[in-house]
Amino acid sequence: MEETIVPKDLEQKIQHLFQLQKSNASNIARTPANERIQKLRKLLDYNSKNIEKIQEAIFLDFKKHPSEVIIGELMGVNGEIKHLIKNLRTWMRPHKVPTPLNMFGTSAYVKFEPKGQCLIISPWNYPFNLAIKPLAQAIAAGNTVILKPSELTPNTSALIKEMLSGLFPEDEIAVIEGDARVSTELLNLPFNHIFFTGSPQVGKIVMKAASRHLASVTLELGGKSPFIVDETADIKTAGEKLAWGKFINAGQTCIAPDYVLVHKNVKSKLISATVEATEKMFNPEAGGLEKTTDFSRIVNQRHFLRLKSLIEDALENGASLVYGGETNAGDNYISPTILTGTEKAGRIMQEEIFGPVLPIIEFEQNAEVIEKINAGEKPLALYIHSRKRSNIDYFINNTSSGGVVINDVLIHYAHKELPFGGVNNSGIGKSGGIWGFTEFSNQKAVLKQRLNLFKMIYPPYTPRVKKL
Ligand code: NAD
Repeated sequence: MEETIVPKDLEQKIQHLFQLQKSNASNIARTPANERIQKLRKLLDYNSKNIEKIQEAIFLDFKKHPSEVIIGELMGVNGEIKHLIKNLRTWMRPHKVPTPLNMFGTSAYVKFEPKGQCLIISPWNYPFNLAIKPLAQAIAAGNTVILKPSELTPNTSALIKEMLSGLFPEDEIAVIEGDARVSTELLNLPFNHIFFTGSPQVGKIVMKAASRHLASVTLELGGKSPFIVDETADIKTAGEKLAWGKFINAGQTCIAPDYVLVHKNVKSKLISATVEATEKMFNPEAGGLEKTTDFSRIVNQRHFLRLKSLIEDALENGASLVYGGETNAGDNYISPTILTGTEKAGRIMQEEIFGPVLPIIEFEQNAEVIEKINAGEKPLALYIHSRKRSNIDYFINNTSSGGVVINDVLIHYAHKELPFGGVNNSGIGKSGGIWGFTEFSNQKAVLKQRLNLFKMIYPPYTPRVKKL
């Protein structure tokens, strides 16, 4: 029978670490910018000296190509750390606010105070990036952290543990490896802030657990992100963006386009452009998609079988296979796959796909697009390919999503000045740069009285108060 609780010694270890960090949290909270910057530099230094080690761990976990590790993991993390280092002094300064007339005689500012003890729970799909990036934001804001990486990428989790225990004392930053049982144990503790990246289902469990201690949460979740292509779009570009955005990391990207809504007049052109771009990216002379090392595998057999059954279910429910569909269970391989006629194809249009399977749905009127998107949960990302300003505005103004990208895909994640995150089912709270620093800080309102003019509102009440 599967164990549902963690062994006693691990439970004690977790509680011990929590207590250690509790006694140290106020020291860490008082650290000035230069000390925090030194810690961030340590992370940066480790990353630049251990590129191959990081690439190797992630390759062992799910054959992610070393170049994709640079692009999808290290560039994001290192860019974020450099941005934090560059701006931290400014962000940490008290933020003076103007004095409104009714506050005459006072001055006030916002102090960015560390939240305190933070828990970070991360997923497997970008296992290094999605653990270290929020960690850097938590460090910048002056917190202690316990980090639990995903059990589905054990080589990367072990590397993260070795890395962080070498760089930091455990009363400041500690890594606890393990699965849902370990998360559950950690979630029993009264952390001040919980930063969770993962599925909406587990996000709900995290939020419920956080409510026991009224811990604040950042939930970076997922969902079904639509990719809209209207009649005016540059179809060749849309096909290229779609092939890259959907098939990089074998579709296991939270902001990957989940499904396409394309105008019926350009549907077949878009399919051809997407197939052409896919073949160009992942099937050069190497001798077939299955042989190329540029295309990741599905993380484990459970997810492989889930995706295979999603395809089978769609085909049984009226969908047509127009490209791909090859699978190899021995290698958890699923080729880039395109399906059409999935309008009524059941599960594939209800669940987040999170794999290299792309349903394409056609529309005639823009209103159908809005109706379809708004019938589901609010997406994490919304992609619009169009050359018509009024269409773009219509799609943006009539939907709600964590982010929108016009005529491209995924790249908003790398924009240092934009908040990253979802809305409701796709997430709560934001991360990245100043937004991440703020998320890991309590925005403390500080007001100083200088003239003491407010006594007129104190009792005993006189006719003057009525006139105020
Ligand atoms: P997951 O929710 O299954 O797991 C995420 C983390 O939660 C892991 O560390 C796991 O051990 C832990 N966990 C699992 N079950 C738990 C439970 N019952 N109680 C407490 N903790 C538990 O997600 P995943 O499969 O690792 O990642 C895929 C999901 O994450 C997708 O939905 C994807 O869209 C989303 N995601 C979102 C972002 C984002 O930035 N918004 C980024 C990457 C992935």
